[in-house]
Amino acid sequence: MASKTPDFTTEGATSDARFDAVIIGAGFAGLYQLHCLRDRLGLTARVLEAGDGVGGTWYWNRYPGARCDTESHAYTYTFSKDLIDDWAWTERYPGHAEIRRYLNHVADMFDLKRDIRFGARVAKAAYDDRTGLWRVETENGHHYTAKYLITAVGCLSSANIPNIPGLDSFAGDWYHTGQWPHEGVDFTGKRVGQIGTGSTGIQSAPVIAEQAAHLTVFQRTANYSVPARNGPLSDEFKAYVRKNFPEIRATMHSTANGHAFTISERSAHDATPAEREKIYEAAWNRGGLQFRGSFKDLTTDKSANDTAAEFLKSKIRQVVKDPETARKLSDIDHPYAAKRPPIDTNYFETFNRDNVALVDVRAHPIQKITPKGIVTDEGEVELDIIVFATGFDAMTGPLLGMNIQGREGALLKDSWREGPKTYLGLQVAGFPNMFTITGPGSPSVLTNMPVAIEQHVEWITDCIAHMEANGIARIEPKAQAAEKWVLDVNAAANETLLPQAKHSWYLGANVPGKPRVFMPYAGGMARYRKICADVAARGYEGFEMVRA
Ligand code: NAP
Repeated sequence: MASKTPDFTTEGATSDARFDAVIIGAGFAGLYQLHCLRDRLGLTARVLEAGDGVGGTWYWNRYPGARCDTESHAYTYTFSKDLIDDWAWTERYPGHAEIRRYLNHVADMFDLKRDIRFGARVAKAAYDDRTGLWRVETENGHHYTAKYLITAVGCLSSANIPNIPGLDSFAGDWYHTGQWPHEGVDFTGKRVGQIGTGSTGIQSAPVIAEQAAHLTVFQRTANYSVPARNGPLSDEFKAYVRKNFPEIRATMHSTANGHAFTISERSAHDATPAEREKIYEAAWNRGGLQFRGSFKDLTTDKSANDTAAEFLKSKIRQVVKDPETARKLSDIDHPYAAKRPPIDTNYFETFNRDNVALVDVRAHPIQKITPKGIVTDEGEVELDIIVFATGFDAMTGPLLGMNIQGREGALLKDSWREGPKTYLGLQVAGFPNMFTITGPGSPSVLTNMPVAIEQHVEWITDCIAHMEANGIARIEPKAQAAEKWVLDVNAAANETLLPQAKHSWYLGANVPGKPRVFMPYAGGMARYRKICADVAARGYEGFEMVRA
């Protein structure tokens, strides 16, 4: 882990530093929010960022193979033509280092860094009923006050490290993929155990296996994966993106998931088995998340989904040579894409290597960690390094970790004891003037994140502009509107196959004790965009606004 930056500023150290807005986080969301408030509305804003650089999730996730699953030409801001013209991605999917370079480029181009405080992890944020201001305190004791508090903390930034007995006694080294050392980890000659086979584990295992003496993958839930088919982008493709960006952007804004590909309008049931096979084979060869778009009903109709699921399971059996390993890898207990579908580079092929083994911890649960390794009821696997690719306390974890207090000192963690409750994923009743970019109840993680982020930031910016222009001191959702939105989020999930994956992090099921509530809005980005626009057009329906 990088060493902590010493304070280079006395701002907020002896008396509160006062701004119109405090924004927490300097990833895609925080950077754009700063630009909008400062450069479009002329407000003062300070970004507080725990890391020592911009990047958000990509500042922390530097594990082997870390790369975005969204194609690079769509994993981008769309608000500035100059920015689009000024940047060209090099590969079909951007790697973590290239995304950091992009976000640094954005921060420099719009001169954002002067308003960001790095190494400033928020310890507490409390609303003061008397002044109507938020008071934010960082771990290093600096204080900020602001009318608006905007959380841009990401959905997947609170590492989930399972509480396995004996971890403290392990004599080797261990790492969580979401808190990866900046200097990297040398696996040469090491016996490595990787726990987890989600999007992260599926990316990291092939890279670790190439360097390590031996890799054991501990799999609890077998997973589908489609080849990413990554590679350098041709000059022709880069030129095409520049020339056609308005149409690409229009596609990203019209599809349910915010990607630059469209979903077929055909049902899987309208194709013969031979036609389906051909379509799936073509999608497999093309690679990437658009496999989901092969038919319109793969995410909503179980029997349509079964056809894709069976195709993908048969691919695993074709690729993996050892029949028992292939059986374990293809013994998948949920519909395709009911958990976030990973894409990979040589994931299943990795299990054909002599130095890779698979342990099924659903059948043989991990019992403990000893100084020497990991113990299941099949015995002990001796290890030098353990890699936890075990995911995140998603969506609520980063917000609940900041000790947020609303009106009359009410704690967010108490308000959300039964599960998160927001209105549109944007605001929480009882927490005036706090906006949660891609909060629980927003489409966020079910979509291409920069698209979701831009929509949120622009909606929040318009809302704040409206408040400033009309002398409004306070906005917060009415309790009834938030209650209804929770029902709408549930109803939208129930229109899909997503709730059928009982162990998914969308439901909070990956963190022991977390309430099981379907958290993201599954109605699609286009529908959500219209709902938010209509709410604003009807005078911020469902919100209470109080004049100064
Ligand atoms: P994840 O999807 O939550 O996967 C965590 C894995 O660890 C699962 O296989 C899980 O098993 C396993 N696990 C957790 N606790 C365990 C325990 N106590 N014992 C054994 N196994 C355990 O996390 P992730 O892979 O980091 O991905 C999280 C999300 O981040 C993704 O869904 C995606 O949205 C995003 N992401 C995106 C990219 C990208 O764009 N390239 C890359 C990585 C991640 P169970 O399934 O049984 O719980």
